[in-house]
Order: sequence, then C-alpha cells, then structure tokens
Amino acid sequence: MSGAGGRDYLAIPGPSVMPDAVLRAMHRAAPNIYAGELPDMMPSLIEGLKKVARTDHFATIYIGNGHAAWEAALSNIVREGDTVLGVINGHFGRGWARVAEGLGVNVIPLDCGLKAPAQGEALEAALRADKEGKIKAVLCTHVDTSTSVKNDIATLRAAIDAAGHSALLAVDCIASLGCDRFEMDAWGVDVMVAASQKGLMVPPGLGFVFFSDKAAAVRNCMDRVSHYWDWGPRSAPEALWQYFAGTAPTHHLYGLQASLEMIHSEGMEAVWARHEKLAGAIWAACETWGQGGPLTLNVPEPAHRSTAVTSLHIGKTIGTRLRQWTEGEAGLTLGIGLGMGNEEDPMADGYFRIGHMGYVNPQMIMGALGSIEAGLAALQVPRGSGALDAAAQALA
Ligand SMILES: *Cc1c(COP(=O)(O)O)cnc(C)c1O
Repeated sequence: MSGAGGRDYLAIPGPSVMPDAVLRAMHRAAPNIYAGELPDMMPSLIEGLKKVARTDHFATIYIGNGHAAWEAALSNIVREGDTVLGVINGHFGRGWARVAEGLGVNVIPLDCGLKAPAQGEALEAALRADKEGKIKAVLCTHVDTSTSVKNDIATLRAAIDAAGHSALLAVDCIASLGCDRFEMDAWGVDVMVAASQKGLMVPPGLGFVFFSDKAAAVRNCMDRVSHYWDWGPRSAPEALWQYFAGTAPTHHLYGLQASLEMIHSEGMEAVWARHEKLAGAIWAACETWGQGGPLTLNVPEPAHRSTAVTSLHIGKTIGTRLRQWTEGEAGLTLGIGLGMGNEEDPMADGYFRIGHMGYVNPQMIMGALGSIEAGLAALQVPRGSGALDAAAQALA
C-alpha cells in the first residue's frame, strides 16, 4: 500500500493545505505592478485582512514568514535597551522572546508550562511588580503551535488593565488566525502578527502585522525605525511599492485574494465553528484511543486547546514511527513533536501533532483519523476501540 494512488494530505501545522482556487489564482503571467488590477485590488485586500483580524485599525503586509512578522512588529514598538514581558507556553512563545533579545530588548519571561494558558493573576502580578513601568509590551502567542495551548487573550487584556499598566498587548496569531476565534478590537489587542501559510491557506511568503491607534502612537515616538520594517508608509501608501517597501509579492497577492474570498463567503463565524467541530472530532478519537493505550492529548482541558492544531504524546519512538507509517503507507503527513524534547526523549520521538488549520473538512479529518487508526494497528500500539465512532458522533 502507498499513498501514491491519491492525493496526499499534509496535516502539519503549517504550511497547510492550499485550496485549488488559491493555486489557480496564482497560476498566471507576471502582472504589471504600476497600474491596473494589482494596485487596484490592494485596498480590498487590506479590508479583507482587517475583517479576518476583526479590526478597524491598521493592517500591513511584509514579504517574509512568521519570523519576519515577529521582527517587524517589534521593530516598530521597542528599541534596544527596552524591556518586554514574554508569555511562554511553548516553542513559539520562546521564539518571539528570542527575536526580541536579538534586537537588544530585555525579556522578562512569564513561563506558563506547556499544558495550560497564562493565568491573568500571574500576568497582573508581574506587571504590578514593574513599579517603574519599564515593560513596554506583553508578547504572547494566541496559540502556541508546539503545545497547542490557546491563551485567553481577553483575560490577559483584563489583567493588564487591572494592573493599571500601559504596556502594549502584542499577540502572535500565526497559527490561529482564520481557525480559532480571535477578536482584535473587542479584546483590546494592540499589535497582532500572522502569516500566510496557516489558516490563510496561501503558500509561505507573507507576514502580516496589524496594529491599533495606541501602537501607532508608540511607533511615532520612536527615534528611528529601520526602513524595511517601518509600518508607517506600509499602512498609508501612496503607491503600490510602499505597501511592500519594494516590489509587490505579486502571485501571493492573487492567492491571498482568492483565500480571503473563500473565508468571507463562508463567514468568520462559520469558519471558526467548522474548526471547532473538526477539532472536536479529533479530540474525541484521541481520547478514545487513550482509554486503552499510551496516547494522550498534551492539553488536558478542552477549553485550553487550539482548534487549529493538536499536540499528542504516545511514548518514545512510537510517535516517530507512526508518522513514518502514515506518510509512507497512507499519504498522510503528521507534524513532528516540536519543543517537547526532554532528557528522557531528547528527540521528541514520543510526540506528534495533527494540523487541522485552514482548508479542512470532515472527510479529510475522518481520513486522517482512519489512517492513524491503521498506523496504530500496523504498529500494534494498544488503544481504546471505537475512536472513529466517537469522531463520527462529534461530527453528526
Ligand atoms: C508557524 C508559527 C511561527 C513561525 O512562522 P514561520 O513562518 O515559520 O516563521 C510563529 N508563531 C506561531 C504561533 C506559529 O504557528
């Protein structure tokens, strides 16, 4: 048996599956970047992005990946010698903190472990301890893709307000945007970063930075911002090149236009509800398998889990062998365990992740779960029975 007889499913947490409509939109000759369709479509693309982020404020596009969006956001709000607080629930929270450190910014870590969201009380206490008001921003992942922990952003905003602190709230939605409910303005988020290759279903290559009026004012008080990262001209351009500080990412923009059309014709509420339902099916199957064997969901409390990605533990080497089996035999590529290695399992061979972000529907999820069931059977891994039934019930 091999996956070669049909379409493969790349079920890793980014890059995600690209819809045919996105691929078709990108398959075209090079467009004129000075006049016509491309410059004309920019205002509606920016509006479409703002609608996904649920903000009426500013949206900017960078040619780059999520790491670029991290650096872009920081470059506009902090300078060397400043201090930020980094909420850490996994590899990506740590990653953004490292980017800040690379810019000469001091990071006070708020380590929340790998299985649960940040507590409002802990953030409030950390901010109250900052008597001199040194902390310029709180950096936080909405979803940490390594652990699949989802932070409650409204609670963190409330904690900042309760502490009476002026720090900006900066949120990484690279994994969650277009998957997990996110309300930038209603939740009081000042800066939000995202990228094209996850919930937005476009190839890697675009980073997005959204920001509030308060963040814009902070930028305007900076002595200088590097020309490329500066969000000023990008958010108020007079010509197409200013959106991108150079040549536009022409084909990515066509792909993005197609993906935004798909998202908004489905509707944000429906997109979130779909992800929730599909995630519920995955969790139901995983919980059932776990009743008779070693599989466990990394995040015990369902309300703390992302609906875009699920991190699992199954025991040393089984995780890696299962991934190899499903990829080689079933055309299903699962995500590696990231940031989960410890002394006992330095290569995180006991972990894997299921990416269920963006362009996913019930038959893909049931196919993925059925393939995992087959892999567990082939590897003779003990497991509870009835996992696929449980998943079907969750979808019914
Ligand atoms: C994928 C991801 C990143 C990194 O994005 P790259 O495009 O790989 O640079 C950062 N944060 C989160 C939450 C992610 O899911």
